[in-house]
Amino acid sequence: MLLKFKNAQNCILKQNGEYVKKLAIERGYLVIVAGKEMPAVNVVVDGSWSKRTYGHGHDSNTGMAVIIEEDTKLVLWIGTRNKYCRQYPPKSMESEIIVEGFNKSIEFHGLVYQNVIGDGDSSVYHEILNRVQYPNIMVRKFECVNHALKNVKKPLIESSNNTKHKLELRKILKPKIERIATAAASAIIYNHEHQYDEVPTTSLTLREDIINIPNHVFGSHHKCKEYFCGQKDEPDDTVLLLIWQEIKKACENLANKSGRLIQNKNSNLCEGFMAQVSKFLQGKRLNVSQKNGYEIRVLSALFAYQFGPFWLAGVTKALGRNQHPKIWIDLSRQNLWNSKLMIIEQED
Ligand SMILES: [Zn+2]
Repeated sequence: MLLKFKNAQNCILKQNGEYVKKLAIERGYLVIVAGKEMPAVNVVVDGSWSKRTYGHGHDSNTGMAVIIEEDTKLVLWIGTRNKYCRQYPPKSMESEIIVEGFNKSIEFHGLVYQNVIGDGDSSVYHEILNRVQYPNIMVRKFECVNHALKNVKKPLIESSNNTKHKLELRKILKPKIERIATAAASAIIYNHEHQYDEVPTTSLTLREDIINIPNHVFGSHHKCKEYFCGQKDEPDDTVLLLIWQEIKKACENLANKSGRLIQNKNSNLCEGFMAQVSKFLQGKRLNVSQKNGYEIRVLSALFAYQFGPFWLAGVTKALGRNQHPKIWIDLSRQNLWNSKLMIIEQED
């Protein structure tokens, strides 16, 4: 069964790659690699891992990771790892799979993964920078806006709960946290959308706007740009104490990512895929004695993501067999989830 699944996986990835490549060439998204023009795309990456300890003292780490193209939402690479080892950090399985996918992208798809959209965790990106061998191309990272906003709120929530600060200060901060995040989100959207205006916005103007957010939220508007607010100064001096430094620091950390935020990207589509994976992994406890059980479930998730609930029909077709019952085809044609397969079919 695993062999058949692997064949189907291979066919699906190849097919997806062909479609993505065609689209990139049509749109003129090309880079020059070793003197040759090559289509380049943005990808989103994610992974998951789990750890099990057995009675006889063995640890098993299983993990999977996926590379998905941004515009088409098609999977270009997927892999699993299984390590019986205590020292092996599970997180490194994810980067191992992703680095492998990048390093094989030219050979396997004829594609360069030029930009990667990732969550706040930069360890995978560091591995990509250090270990991906694209001649004369440096992979850039775009920050996922949702994760970045979550990361700006986290230290603020901590400050608002930290009893070293006076209760009255914490009470002032608490309702402002959501306003800080909302202001940051609007600054990102505005600066993203006006990059091609006569007076263009840049990562520097975004940076200024984010740095100014604490002033704005606490009533001092002399540095606010017109688009940002039209309020009059009513400075609230009560926060000009220790807690103020923490608020400023959280916003400065976000501002430092301006160059990677102005593209206004998010990694939501990967979360859709990961939800599919956990659906297949949860519930029934993984039968360890069943060889390849983990891998088969991860591949089932890939098929379900690609083809929808009637994925068996899609897999049969990907394998080049057409004997599946007509009812499957009829059902799958009515299914909205099937949109990705339909796109490819129409292109044929
Ligand atoms: Zn303001």
